[in-house]
Formats: sequence, structure tokens, C-alpha cells
Amino acid sequence: THFGYADVALGEKQRLVDDVFHKVAERYDIMNDLMSGGLHRMWKNVLVAMVKPSRVRAFRHLDVAGGTGDVAFRVAAAGGPRTEITVLDINPDMLAVGEARAAKRRHPGNLEFVTGNAEDLPLPDGQFDCYTIAFGIRNVPRIDLALAEAHRVLKRGGHFLCLEFSDVDVPGLDRIYDLFSFKVIPQIGRAVTGDGEPYRYLVESIRKFPTADHFADLIADAGFHNVSFTRLSGGIVAIHSAWKL
Ligand code: SAM
Repeated sequence: THFGYADVALGEKQRLVDDVFHKVAERYDIMNDLMSGGLHRMWKNVLVAMVKPSRVRAFRHLDVAGGTGDVAFRVAAAGGPRTEITVLDINPDMLAVGEARAAKRRHPGNLEFVTGNAEDLPLPDGQFDCYTIAFGIRNVPRIDLALAEAHRVLKRGGHFLCLEFSDVDVPGLDRIYDLFSFKVIPQIGRAVTGDGEPYRYLVESIRKFPTADHFADLIADAGFHNVSFTRLSGGIVAIHSAWKL
């Protein structure tokens, strides 16, 4: 395919991804802090600032590949009492950690946890005001299917937002970043989970993910309008925004 995943069969790719998140579910949140030096918190805050959930009207939010609920809890905090959030992930172990976290929160928000695949959402058409996916879409074998599903479940006027690793556009930073991702990340992975190999695979999936420009084209191909993106931290991540009209 043009995503460069031809070397890994699609089913095999999903299996490798599932294996990683099964292994790390319990330690996922600490791993995120270690591997991003805490930056993922800032990136998620910028993402959720773009969600702008209504504090007065009903607001239905879907967070796909929502894992342990990190984005969902932020949307809940930003929204009002009529904000309803569905957290969907293919991996029930990740969702279980999210549910346990929700139970411990003083204001957990109106959250529902659903096991499902981004490529084939077990959800009806045209129900959501906003769809987010953070560090999830690069793990999905068929990005075009995930985008088509995002479009299907959004209402007209609904907002698509995607936070993902991207192409570093600062000279010099690219080399530091390569060193960090190919050497340091698998080492942290091995130290915390006993196995660095799955993390090496995840780092490769970042490399093979389309550039920010190309990804914007794929979003438009799925039928979205007003596609734009913002690079953060020198392009280590980008947030893509688009609308269903
Ligand atoms: N969004 C969370 C965050 O930012 O902390 C979790 C991101 S984590 C790096 C990637 C998540 O994508 C994992 O929880 C994994 O189970 C999920 N995932 C992988 N493939 C998926 C698929 N096809 N459909 C839905 N979720 C998927």
C-alpha cells in the first residue's frame, strides 16, 4: 500500500499492536510520561482545547483508540453536565485501566467504555459532535477505513480531530529524535515490560505514517472539509482538524 505497510500483513500488524498494549496496559500511563518526557500531557491539552465541548447544550464526544481515558477525562473536565463521552478501544485491557481510573475520580464525567475497532465502529451513523483519536490512528492497519468510519458516525457539522506523531521539520531535531526513538524508547520499553521488540515496531509505525500534508489529503479523501493541521514541538506531533459538512 502507499502507507508502506506492505511488508507487514494487515492482520499481523493489528496483532503486533494488540500485543504491545496488552503487555503495557497497567503501566501505560507511566510509560507515556517516561517516553515523552511528560510532553504528551501538553499535546493532549492542546487537542482538547480544540474540542470546545458545549457547557450548556448536549455534547456527544467519541474518543477512538481512547486507551486508558486520558483524552476522555480532559474532555469531561472541559465540558458541562450534558457532555457524554464514549471511549472506544480495540483492547479491553486498556479500557479496564481507564474504567478503574474513572471509578477513582471525584468527577468522572459521563463516560461509556466500548470495545471496538476504529475500522468498523460498532456505533450508529451521525451521532457525535466530535471525534478524537490521539496516538491511535498510526496503529490502525487501514487508515482510509478508520477515516471513513469517523466521517460516518459524526453529525453534520461534526468535528474530527487527530493527534499523532508526525514528520519532524526542525533541522537537527530529526537526528536527536531518531536516536531517541530507535535507541531510548525500546530501552524504556524493555526496562518496564521486559521486552523492547514491540516498541521497536511502534517506533517504525511512526516512521511509516504519512507526512502531515499527505495525511491531510487522506482526510479530505474521506469526505471531510476545511482540513487543516497544526504542528507542535517542531513537528514531533501534529493535530489535524476537519469538519463533516
Ligand atoms: N489515546 C490514548 C492516549 O493518547 O493516551 C491511547 C493511545 S495508545 C498509544 C494507542 C491505542 O490504540 C491503544 O490503546 C490500542 O489498543 C488502540 N488501538 C490499536 N489499534 C486499534 C484499532 N484498530 N481500533 C481501535 N483502537 C486501536
